[in-house]
Parts: sequence; C-alpha cells; structure tokens
Amino acid sequence: ADPLETLTFDNRFVNTLPADPEHRNNRREVRNACYSLVEPTPVAKPHVLSYSPEASALLDLTEEQCRTPSFAEILAGNRLLPGMQPFAMRYGGHQFGSWAGQLGDGRAINLGEIVNRRGRRWTLQLKGAGPTPYSRRADGLAVLRSSLREFICSEAMHHLGIPTTRALSLVTTGEQVLRDMFYDGHPCHEPGAVVCRLAPSFLRFGNFEIHTATGEIELLRQLVDYSLVTDFADLSAKPGPDGYLAWFSEICRRTGELVVHWMRVGFVHGVLNTDNMSILGLTIDYGPYGWLEDYDPSWTPNTTDAQGRRYCYGNQPQIALWNLVQLANAIYPLIEESEPLQAALDVYRKTFQRGWRQALADKLGLTGREDGDDSLMQRTLELLAEQHLDMTIFFRRLADLPADPSIPIDFPSFFADAYYQNATGEPGQAPLNDWLSAYRTRIGTANGDDQQHRRTMMNRVNPKYVFRNYLAQLAIEQAEQGDASLIEELLEVLRRPYDEQPGKEKFAQRRPEWARNRAGCSMLSCSS
Ligand code: AMP
Ligand code: MG
Ligand code: MG
Repeated sequence: ADPLETLTFDNRFVNTLPADPEHRNNRREVRNACYSLVEPTPVAKPHVLSYSPEASALLDLTEEQCRTPSFAEILAGNRLLPGMQPFAMRYGGHQFGSWAGQLGDGRAINLGEIVNRRGRRWTLQLKGAGPTPYSRRADGLAVLRSSLREFICSEAMHHLGIPTTRALSLVTTGEQVLRDMFYDGHPCHEPGAVVCRLAPSFLRFGNFEIHTATGEIELLRQLVDYSLVTDFADLSAKPGPDGYLAWFSEICRRTGELVVHWMRVGFVHGVLNTDNMSILGLTIDYGPYGWLEDYDPSWTPNTTDAQGRRYCYGNQPQIALWNLVQLANAIYPLIEESEPLQAALDVYRKTFQRGWRQALADKLGLTGREDGDDSLMQRTLELLAEQHLDMTIFFRRLADLPADPSIPIDFPSFFADAYYQNATGEPGQAPLNDWLSAYRTRIGTANGDDQQHRRTMMNRVNPKYVFRNYLAQLAIEQAEQGDASLIEELLEVLRRPYDEQPGKEKFAQRRPEWARNRAGCSMLSCSS
C-alpha cells in the first residue's frame, strides 16, 4: 500500500453539489454547476523543496510519510490516491471594481477532502497543476517565485495568529514555465512549482456571485445551504432566510476581524477582488501581496494597480466592505429584503471600527480608555508617515520606551533603526517632542506604568519578524539556484514572530537600500 493511504477522503463538496456534465480539462464556459471534474497534469520531475510540518499534522501525516517519494508524486499531481476526486471550482468575481464573469479555478485543482482525527475537515488543493476549464487564456501553471511566496507567507500568517489558508508543500516540477517578466518586458522561462494548499473550504464570494449573475438561483441556494451545514454548522439550525442572514452576518464579522489583523501587522493583500475573498474569512490567494516597510497608507506592491491604488494598505477596510456589498447583492434573491442585509453590513463596520481601535490601543500599549486616545493614535500614524518609519520596527521599539519623563529621549536616535530617511522637521524636532511627551504622559498615567508588563503586552501584538518583501526575494534567488536553506531558516524564524530570537535579528531589520526599487522586493505583478 502507498505510505500515504492513511489519508481517507470524504468528498462532501463533489458528493453534494452539481457537477459540470463534461469531464474534460478544456477551457470553456460552464453553466448550471458548482465545479468540473478534472485531472492534474503530470510533471517531469517532482521534488519537495520544502513542506510545513504544522500543516502536515493537520492531515495526521507523520514526518516519515512526508519524506517518502510518494509525497512528492502526489503533491505534484502525478499520482492520485484512492478516494481522490480532483475538481476545479466554478466562480466569478468583481475584479478592480467591475464584474468579470466566469473566472474559476484556472490553476487550482482540489484533490479531495479529509476529516482529521480531531474531526476537522480539510480540502487539499494543488496550485499550478495544469489547466482546467477555467484557465481562460493562461497555462494553469505556477512558477517557483510566486509559489515560494505563497508557501512561506501562508504559514507565517498562521503563526501570526491571522486566519489564512495553509500551505502543506512546495514542490518543484523539473519543468520550465514561460512568463513575461514585467521588469524587462521579455518573456523568459522560470522553474515551475506546485503548492498544496489546505483550507476547511476554498469557497469565495465569487462562487456565489456567479450563480446569481447567470440566473441560477436554485443552485445559489444549494451552495449557501451547503456552506451553512458544512462550515457554519452552529448557524444551520435556522431555516430559510434567517439562516442565510445569520450566515452573511457571520461572514461580515469574520471579514471585519480579518482586515483588523491585516492592518495590525501591515499586510497588504494586493488583489482584493471578490474572487480572492474567502467565505470563511481567511486570507486567500497570495499573489502580489506585501508588507508595509516605511509606513504609507497609499502603498501597494501590485504594479498592476499602481495607478489607482485601489488595493493599497489604507483602502483595505473600505474594499472589504465593497466586496461584502457584492456578496449581499448576490444572495439578495434568497432574502428579498434589503434592511437585514444592511444590518449585517453594519456588523462589518462595527467589527472593523472597534477591532481596529482596540488593535491600535494594544499596539501602543494603552490600557483603559482616556480622552485624547483617538487623537494620540491618529497622531502616531501621521508621525510614522511623515518620518518614513518602518511600521514593524517602530512598534516593536516603542515597547522599550520609558514612561518616566526624567529620562531624556531623543526621538530620532531612539527610533534610529526604523528610519528610512533622516528625521524631518524643524530644528529642535518640536513635533517629535510633542508626540513623545503626550505618549509618555499617557502610558505613565494608567495605573502607573509597569514597563515590563507593558512591553510583554505590546510584544504580543507587534510582531518582530514579518515576511519582509526583500526576504522573499532573497529566498527566491537562492531557491532558483537549488538552495532551500533560506526557506527553512525563514520558516523557522517566522514560526515565532512575536518572540525575541537571539542571532536572528538580521531578519528583523529594515529593508536594505539595494531592495528599495527592485522588482520582486516591493513591486510585483498580478498573476504569475
Ligand atoms: P488571481 O488574480 O490570481 O486571483 O487570478 C484570477 C483568475 O485568473 C482566477 O480565475 C485564476 O484561476 C486565474 N489564473 C491566474 N493565473 C492563472 C494561470 N497561470 N493559469 C490559469 N489561470 C490562471
Ligand atoms: Mg485568485
Ligand atoms: Mg492568484
């Protein structure tokens, strides 16, 4: 028997929902179906570059199983295990504000679902395993560069405590994939790779929108019922419109919490189209994402969005709401009343507003609530932007600031490690000193300042280690030379992002000068 045959499949999605009657991988418009059965395309030479032990534990796999040749074969799509029923999901989406029609899993293939020993359901999904009916004009493949970025960042987000799809493995295919590298404009070959992602469900807002857009309301109902029973079991007791509203409200709440997390750690998703919004409130689809370095709310790493900056850091809260409105419109036929849908959207607004206010207070170490807190928070963010400070380093360093006003502090020297440019401002640094004294007064007043305690609390919400854009680029350059050691080192460091890790400080430093305007480090294009 295959060492991986301990994986037993319970494919609820394909067993419950209607399939596309055609069983072929060719590109086409699909109607009256939630998915198409497909087959992954075998690759030349699968090689496991890295895997996540934490993710493999979700499937109850042992380390031994993950080191068998069969692991590589299966996670490249070369071989299927008994019980696997590979399929690609049908979805649509609003891209950059306009309805884009059918999109679907163009390069993602779900292998099947398992229920683990703890009773948790996980779908295994390969990304980059060849074309499907939804591939449109693209090749269904993924390159090592983008696969590595997705693999490491998924796991890093999980360890930051942020809801996300998980990544089990990063497998190189031994094949070359043709890509238009945007920075020199010339098509070139890059090594191909396949990531195996895991999630309780990969349903996106777009899976629901497509049915409404094509007038398939009964199918829409079936899909919402499926989602309720499968992933929102505690809400599924309410029949009919009440259940649908409870479901939508819960999606609004989870989305609000998710966006608070992104804002807290300075994560920019980069392509928040409705097809990249998880119904479970998970971070999904790691493409041209990035981490804020010098704090700038209008920053996006996505060069495809450089003009409008629709998906920049500071717009994420509003864009998530816009996307929820599209989902509300999609399920309107099941509810036929707009007020309760509006009320659910308010759940998003409240969750985000309260959550973000609390997150900022926690980041600043403000306990209790005092008049003037809101303006202190506002002023802090303005200062970060004005002074071109590294968001992550600033908040981490802030925890070391003594409240005691008799200890003299020079702002630019205290925060020197966070500066991308020289301190700006008038001689004497009045704005910096004003902020310092306001902040120190505030932290000194609440129950007297216990600096040790404050530092501990602040360091729980202000990560020291994030997957900085240039670190990804360094790992890619080494991996393309066949060296996976930096991947392993980064996975290890990013496993404990809130801890001090002596000897690993180099991974917590601000972006080096060479990486400032370099492709891959802070500029990325949409699909690769
Ligand atoms: P994204 O911008 O990554 O969210 O992708 C948008 C749509 O394009 C989705 O339907 C993807 O499945 C599809 N897509 C992206 N890249 C590829 C590719 N290389 N081959 C086939 N489909 C793709
Ligand atoms: Mg996508
Ligand atoms: Mg993508």
